[in-house]
Amino acid sequence: MTLLDSTTPLRCRLCGCLEVTLLGSVAPTHPAEFHTKEFTLQQCSHCDVVYLHPLPSANDLKLLYQQSMQFTDAHYTDPAQVEKILAYYSGAARNLGLLPRTGGQMLEIGAGLAWMSRACKSLDQTVLTIAQDVSAECANTCAWVDRYFVGAVDALPDRGPYQLVSLTHVIEHLANPANMLRTISALVQPGGAVFITAPFRPSSWRCGDGITAWRNYSYLHVPAHITYFSRRWFELKASPQFSIAHWDASHENGQAFELVLRRN
Ligand SMILES: [Zn+2]
Repeated sequence: MTLLDSTTPLRCRLCGCLEVTLLGSVAPTHPAEFHTKEFTLQQCSHCDVVYLHPLPSANDLKLLYQQSMQFTDAHYTDPAQVEKILAYYSGAARNLGLLPRTGGQMLEIGAGLAWMSRACKSLDQTVLTIAQDVSAECANTCAWVDRYFVGAVDALPDRGPYQLVSLTHVIEHLANPANMLRTISALVQPGGAVFITAPFRPSSWRCGDGITAWRNYSYLHVPAHITYFSRRWFELKASPQFSIAHWDASHENGQAFELVLRRN
């Protein structure tokens, strides 16, 4: 089967333009019977995003998330590791002005172990922490979460408005991230923050550099990671509801980014 007919212009799944090219093929990095083994990365020179094509199927997502435990690793429970991870989140909350004011509310989407909730709670006990995840794996183990909701964000009963919404290593898993930004824009109060971290790209990779570095990239998770974002994509798709207050793509030697959006 030919995935891409070279005579038909491709439309960017992330911005809708026609400036998309095939970067190359990538094999699944997770051992399971996905609907195809023929995944590719596409790059868009307009929104500067690299994304997986085709999307994982509904059954692929089940294989990835419902039949595996993600957080049992000692990495997440070893006291020295916990201290290190919490130091990062507490630092971000303080230095980027994310901590809700006394008695304020925050929401953590795709929370898992809810590190940002844990950091905010330890900085200010009065902050109300709401966590959401599609998996129940961590729902009963996070004492620092006031209400842990298992289900889709659209079905979340607590609608805010929140002073902080946090998505750490979550947005790269979403088939329609622009939809998620729209959903979040209705949950954040004016002046409130959205904190996003996610994989960026291989160290010092630039458009035109080819596929090789991607195949060795530690965050190339096929087909779990669907999109590798850019600042330009957020400039295009987060406005006019949000402004970019902070963008730092130097994390982990330029392999991950940290972003703060402010609700206008
Ligand atoms: Zn694009």
